[in-house]
Amino acid sequence: LRARAEKVPLVVYDRQMSTQAAERLALVQRLRDALERGEFELAYQPIHRLSDLGVVSVEALIRWRRPDGRCVSPLDFIPLAEESGLIVPIGAWVLEEAARAYRRLADAGRGDVSIAVNVSAVQFESGISRDGLRALRAGAGLPVRALHLELTESVLLRNPDAARVLMLQLHEDGVCLSIDDFGTGFSSMAYLRDLPLDHLKIDRGFVRDVASDPRSAAICRTLIGLGHGLGLSVVAEGVEDAAQLDWLRAEGCDLVQGYHLGRPMPLDALLARLAGLESSAAR
Ligand code: C2E
Ligand code: MG
Ligand code: MG
Ligand code: MG
Repeated sequence: LRARAEKVPLVVYDRQMSTQAAERLALVQRLRDALERGEFELAYQPIHRLSDLGVVSVEALIRWRRPDGRCVSPLDFIPLAEESGLIVPIGAWVLEEAARAYRRLADAGRGDVSIAVNVSAVQFESGISRDGLRALRAGAGLPVRALHLELTESVLLRNPDAARVLMLQLHEDGVCLSIDDFGTGFSSMAYLRDLPLDHLKIDRGFVRDVASDPRSAAICRTLIGLGHGLGLSVVAEGVEDAAQLDWLRAEGCDLVQGYHLGRPMPLDALLARLAGLESSAAR
């Protein structure tokens, strides 16, 4: 009995905590309502080839547009959606919406641009399956290259064996997989060696000072070499200026994404931009 009691964490219960708990519950309910009322939107940020700055894909990033017009960042609600399990239905909506967006890209003649969707660990474990993704593609008439998945290292930490099996199945089907924010979690070289990944995304935190800080530069150079050594395409996130872009080009990075090249934008703006880029390239 004593041993058991010792395992029980000491909880200091006070009024502030009960208020916090109540606020969380209310926010979970608001998220549930938001999903039902269609208050989520996707913004799309272009991912460019570094060689000629052509757009090869876009990353779908969720936004919550409140009825008062205010836009809530995913950083402010994804963690709670993950904890409450709501990320599973929200993530399913994201995939369906991305599939609809891909149809519009393809109809506009840009079926070559794929859409990268962020997938949380909880969602990868209980909301994603090979059959589910096959059904989604069949229903929307999508080629397999239409949707990429971006996974973070947390996906692999949660249940490594199950995650690996699913990744291998998706890879067999031809689904492109990225490891997102690489370097920020418990980056294990074993993941990179053993898992069927296609892209390694270098976190913005390392890219930021690449042109001014030798230590950031050393890390990015190493990550680019590591990715290439393993046959992966390397994507740099958060490119905000020309100096970073030049540095990444000189170091042989493959793909870039960031405010310097394009902010996340609504689908209509993306379509206009792609059409504009095309006509300016044709000129
Ligand atoms: P992430 O997947 O690493 O996405 C990149 C984030 O960096 C996005 O933030 C993007 O807007 C931001 N970003 C891109 N370029 C720049 C830049 O040049 N400078 C700066 N300062 N920021 C840049 P966002 O949209 O706020 O999303 C934050 C995170 O929320 C994402 O990080 C991802 O982990 C998560 N997230 C977003 N959408 C979804 C989703 O549909 N499902 C799940 N599970 N998570 C999502
Ligand atoms: Mg991402
Ligand atoms: Mg990222
Ligand atoms: Mg990041």
